[in-house]
Amino acid sequence: MKTWKMYVGDEWIDATDGRSYSLPNPATEEEIARAPDAGVADVERAVAAARHAFDEGPWPRMPVGERASLLLRIADGVERRKEEFREILVRAHGATSMTHGQQLDAPIQLIRNYAELAREHSFEEPLPLVEPPVPSGAKPVSTLVVRQPVGVCVLIPTWNFPLWVTVQKLAPALAAGCTMVVKPSPWGPLVDLMIAEVVAEAGVPAGVFNVVCGESAELGRALVEDPRIDKVSFTGSNGVGKRIMEIAARNLTRVHLELGGKSALLVLDDYDLDAAVLSACVPTFFHAGQGCAMATRVLVSRSRHDELVRKMAQFVEKNVKIGDPADPSVLLGPVIRPERRAAIEDHIASGRREGADLATGGGRPPALERGWFVEPTIFGNVRSDMRIAQEEIFGPVVSVIPFADEEDAVRIANDSEYGLFGGILSADTRRAIDLARRIRTGGVAINGAVNTFTKPSGGFKRSGIGRENGRFGLEEYTELQAVMWPS
Ligand code: NAD
Repeated sequence: MKTWKMYVGDEWIDATDGRSYSLPNPATEEEIARAPDAGVADVERAVAAARHAFDEGPWPRMPVGERASLLLRIADGVERRKEEFREILVRAHGATSMTHGQQLDAPIQLIRNYAELAREHSFEEPLPLVEPPVPSGAKPVSTLVVRQPVGVCVLIPTWNFPLWVTVQKLAPALAAGCTMVVKPSPWGPLVDLMIAEVVAEAGVPAGVFNVVCGESAELGRALVEDPRIDKVSFTGSNGVGKRIMEIAARNLTRVHLELGGKSALLVLDDYDLDAAVLSACVPTFFHAGQGCAMATRVLVSRSRHDELVRKMAQFVEKNVKIGDPADPSVLLGPVIRPERRAAIEDHIASGRREGADLATGGGRPPALERGWFVEPTIFGNVRSDMRIAQEEIFGPVVSVIPFADEEDAVRIANDSEYGLFGGILSADTRRAIDLARRIRTGGVAINGAVNTFTKPSGGFKRSGIGRENGRFGLEEYTELQAVMWPS
């Protein structure tokens, strides 16, 4: 059984006290590898390496074109080792073949996009000359706005799309000239440890990129409270996001939070119901509903509700094959850990208790004795005040909520503490764009449109602070500096 090592400075290390922990395959429950279980001493070392690389090393001062070339080498490196990444994604994260485009191809493309963007981005921008107010007769002032790297970043990605989530942080941070310590989720460190191998092979200077991993939440806390860091970028739940913000506040450390979601898909009356079924069922098969932006609330008019629910249940029962994602014909894999399955089952029980109609699923697939599986589950006649309509479930569960009219649909869509994403299905794109402006979320996809790379990605309300992807993501890793002189 392979025990992986962490990357700190330019060394591959075990945890200081030699501890490691076990990583299971969620489809079989068998151990697949061991990862170092770092402690606070390892955090200390990693932050020191990143701080030194930022303050003394060449990276922040290197021409941006050179950093962009290294990003391209990293993209090539990931691509060369694509099959190794794929194996980890399948065996450690339960990633079915259907998700591999988003899990594997999209992050490679995103690194390349950031390399290109960094080359084109204006990191220095002159402002028009200004006349000084006093004393009169003084020379006008020239101003140059310089985008400096924000500094040493702590990146805490999550396990659901691990390569994608890490790359969303790593690529803009590297492009901007930051140094970093990555602290993966305890449930998914191998992708980040493999990225470290690729980064080292690409020739990124020592200390720019460091990874420490371990089981304890103490590790993340120790990193966030370290006064030597300048910024934290976290993807995860609202509960941990709040704690991170509290801890970071002590040092006024900058925080970027990508948190949970409870996205609504509005099926308007002018949209064909058969065409709506696939979009409405996505969370029941795509990565077992373990995605932040998935439409887990489907809103449809009262008159079409029963028909849509019936068609969705039929679709799922006929098409969604459940099992080990090592089989490429499987659509629905396991959820990541037994405690996640227990939390999903608790939500399903609450939906039943509160009077929602269970249209399909609700249990564990009887044929699968091992692995942490949940049946694809659809509830109809859900009310917006039920727990299953308000709380993020992060499992293969969809709630269908009937609305009276379009006003009511907008009200229900916005009746959420979350504001990450949403969707509208309509035969009239103009009408849908107008409606989208009334939805309080960081993104709205009309008729299933997807822009993975250049759109700003992030949340309104409690779904986060900051934006990832494209130039919006790049600018999150910079500070604006105004340099002025008499002209
Ligand atoms: P989680 O909140 O349980 O995060 C766990 C991580 O936080 C671990 O790495 C843990 O060590 C660390 N941690 C715990 N306490 C800490 C502290 N005090 N200081 C610093 N770090 C600490 O979430 P998860 O299970 O990893 O992820 C699931 C969540 O992620 C869902 O809510 C999902 O919606 C969200 N998500 C959001 C996006 C997005 O882009 N908005 C993308 C993917 C997932």
